[in-house]
Amino acid sequence: MALLTIGAFARAARLSPKALRLYDELGLLRPAAVDPATGYRFYDPAQLDRARLVAWLRRLGMPLADIREVCDLPGPAAAERIGAYWAQVVAETAARGQLASFLVDYLSGKGSSMSDTTPTLGIRYAARTDAGKSRPRNQDTAYAGSRLLAVADGMGADGGERASAAAVEALKSLEDAAVAAGDLLNVLAEAATAAEGAVRDAADGDAGTTLTALVWSGAQLGLVHIGDSRAYVLRDGELFQITTDHTYVQSLVESGQLSADEAASHPQRALLVQALTGTGAIGAPDLSLHEALAGDRYLLCSDGVSAVVPGEALRGALAGGASPDDVADELVRLAYEFGAPDNIACVVADVVTL
Ligand code: MN
Repeated sequence: MALLTIGAFARAARLSPKALRLYDELGLLRPAAVDPATGYRFYDPAQLDRARLVAWLRRLGMPLADIREVCDLPGPAAAERIGAYWAQVVAETAARGQLASFLVDYLSGKGSSMSDTTPTLGIRYAARTDAGKSRPRNQDTAYAGSRLLAVADGMGADGGERASAAAVEALKSLEDAAVAAGDLLNVLAEAATAAEGAVRDAADGDAGTTLTALVWSGAQLGLVHIGDSRAYVLRDGELFQITTDHTYVQSLVESGQLSADEAASHPQRALLVQALTGTGAIGAPDLSLHEALAGDRYLLCSDGVSAVVPGEALRGALAGGASPDDVADELVRLAYEFGAPDNIACVVADVVTL
């Protein structure tokens, strides 16, 4: 078939000649021939599919190096590559969205006189951890004090327990002094950095940990979260998960490639995409602020609870009106009832009027 001029090819591909010249320069789509005398570019009509694909992928915002790779892959592999790219975009956007809403919360609370009018609140808390039935060691850490609540789930054949203990230990200085509501942002960011450094110092390269922690300021709770341990709040009898799992399957759920039910039974459901490790943090911890309301009950737990105890049993245990101590015992008992295949860690804290 006859070659097309760049103008004719551009019209057929619904692209501008300028875009085609760019794709040529970037190595994404070379013309079939270039007139050595004039430098005019000529295209084969068989190149239309590739030209259109390049245009669509540019519109998707895919980086040039990735576009080049996708264009050279056969259909199914190209489809998989685009799916993986989009899952990553969604995860990164979610993290930025979290930061944006954190800043909105933080700046709108700053300068308001809310803390002058709210009644004095406090927390009542309990923490439990248990190796469970199948694991030789307990690599989970759970801690609850008057200003700090934390769970961490260590991983790695050797040093997982050191990693989880170090992450929580690094936050304990927060117990020493009250945190003013207006300082929560800086305090949380510093705490996250301290935990990251402590894990790097304490753990070997392949060991790491999740970390989910709440810092109490008296009117607000600041949340630091990385990995697949979880925080929930029980409010008016309803249980809300307030953390997002940093797992591969959750990124597939958020990009629409997997349902929540499929994720729960996926063989790679425990594969983390963010964690604190011996070689530094993979990804950045999520930070968020939560207004404390009297009557709220918070739960922090490792996946030895959340992936083992069915949601309705979890809600039932929390909603029963028992004390934090009794609820924490009940959660450990439930994890055993459902096989206790993993280490167990949980923290239960009630916001109460003093
Ligand atoms: Mn676990």
